Amino acid sequence: MARKSLGFVPLIWACPSCGTQNPGPIKTCTSCGAPQPEDVQFLRVGEEEFNFIKDEALIRMAKAGPDIHCPWCGTRNPSTAAVCSNCGGELSQGGKPRQSGQKVQSAAEAAAQPQAPLPPQQAQPLPPASAAQPAKPVNKKTIIIGVVVIAVLCLAGILLVSWLNKTDTIQATVTDVYWERSVGIEEYQEVTASDWCDELPSDAEVLSYSQKYRYTSDSPAANATEVCGEEYVVDTGTGIGEVVQDCVYEVYADYCQYSAWEWVALSPMTVSGRDLSPYWPTFSLSDTQRETGTAEEYVITLTGDGEQYTYTTDDPDLFLQAEPGSVWEVTVNKLNQVRELIPYN
Ligand SMILES: [Zn+2]
Ligand SMILES: [Zn+2]
Repeated sequence: MARKSLGFVPLIWACPSCGTQNPGPIKTCTSCGAPQPEDVQFLRVGEEEFNFIKDEALIRMAKAGPDIHCPWCGTRNPSTAAVCSNCGGELSQGGKPRQSGQKVQSAAEAAAQPQAPLPPQQAQPLPPASAAQPAKPVNKKTIIIGVVVIAVLCLAGILLVSWLNKTDTIQATVTDVYWERSVGIEEYQEVTASDWCDELPSDAEVLSYSQKYRYTSDSPAANATEVCGEEYVVDTGTGIGEVVQDCVYEVYADYCQYSAWEWVALSPMTVSGRDLSPYWPTFSLSDTQRETGTAEEYVITLTGDGEQYTYTTDDPDLFLQAEPGSVWEVTVNKLNQVRELIPYN
């Protein structure tokens, strides 16, 4: 997502000593003269005072980068300053830049938030770290029960699989046979289709095209519609806020209706029967048609011990032995699925 800048607005800070709201760039309280604390949070002005800054110098200052706190006296200096305006100390000697880029709250939002920093004289001392509750260790019993449950489930799974793989061999008589053979056919045809205009087959003839949404980009792109979220203010670290919006870009592209010549599958030529004389379909192809392959399927139905079993294979040699009335050895699993079929001698 791209952050789009709409302009700059003044921010304020509340003096922790007297509560006066001061303009963001002013570094000492206009009422009591107290210095702005290092960790002060800037706030948005109320909606009625909200107005974009037009002063080029202020905008340049906001764009220059976050202010730097003097490592000697804490005074906030512009990022371009080399020495502190208050004590003359070297700012390159460990000067700390202000936090920047975070969302700025309004005074009302900050007041509504219980965890808003309290003025220093009211701040509660933090409880010593040792008083913090250590993370509760996971009960050993729970771990053992979990391991046992997993082991039981694994064992049950293994037993189930081995039970399903257990087979019985029975004698059964062939009661029905069925075969089906087919040949796939394609025809070279002129087809109309649609796709992105830059992804068409080489011989495609464009019939018409229109603009269509293709993808969403995080950064501005050609032929895109900008879609932006709500405006908000971020701290530039200078006492001036930047009004921004997070935007994405819906990119459109040409979508073509085209015609092209392609091999198109026709319905396969299929023959079938309930006897032991399977044959392949006979047909003639036109100049624009071709075969694509063959498929064969044979189904043998048997009855034994009062049960009916069905076996499907693509092996014609096995099928041709399945004379109706012949007796076979059928291997079935616990779900009555035929695993193997052997002619009984
Ligand atoms: Zn004050
Ligand atoms: Zn200083």
